[in-house]
Amino acid sequence: MKLRDRLYAYPWESMTENNCNAYLIDGPVRTLIDPGHAHALHHLEAKMAQDGFTFEDVHLALATHPHPDHCEGLLALRDLGVKTAMHVDADSFIRSFNDQWRQMTGQEMPEFQMDFYLKEGTLELGTESLQVLETPGHAPGSVCLLWEGQGVLFSGDVVFAQSVGRVDLPGGDAAQLIESLEKLMGLDVELLCPGHGPWIEGRGAVKENFYIIRQYIFGTGR
Ligand SMILES: [Zn+2]
Repeated sequence: MKLRDRLYAYPWESMTENNCNAYLIDGPVRTLIDPGHAHALHHLEAKMAQDGFTFEDVHLALATHPHPDHCEGLLALRDLGVKTAMHVDADSFIRSFNDQWRQMTGQEMPEFQMDFYLKEGTLELGTESLQVLETPGHAPGSVCLLWEGQGVLFSGDVVFAQSVGRVDLPGGDAAQLIESLEKLMGLDVELLCPGHGPWIEGRGAVKENFYIIRQYIFGTGR
């Protein structure tokens, strides 16, 4: 669904199955953020078709972090010729599970091949640009993406409406998550697009959300 000019959102709405929200920036480098689980890609494909897009129209697919409900779809998209990227620490984190995977399944883990790695700084997408913010804590190699000039923050699983990412999964780190949240709180955000749940529109509402999170984490509105 069209969220605003050149921005499409594909929220995950199933009550019984977990997957992430996906977002598409329709610029000169058409960019899909968090394609989600591989087995759910056909849902995303059907929703994108309603807006006139196919996966072949996508130039670049990014994952905010290495959890399968966000990044697994990169494998199939890459097979269609879409460039793929995540943070180098996210890639290493996935590779670190190779031995466990082999023991569990007797097979090699499907190998993610990144075309490049996301790192702190500006990612140029033709006339558009994303500011990549390294925000570990929920997962190693977690990044948030600020669409420059638009005030749109794609926050992955770092911050949600009235909640933050869990830190009890492998590679989670509460102290790092707090640092990452503090980094995000300083940004000028007009639309917050999280990896799960509803997006938050309006500077006031985004500020209020961070205020609530500050109270919840620090016990104060500082
Ligand atoms: Zn996650």
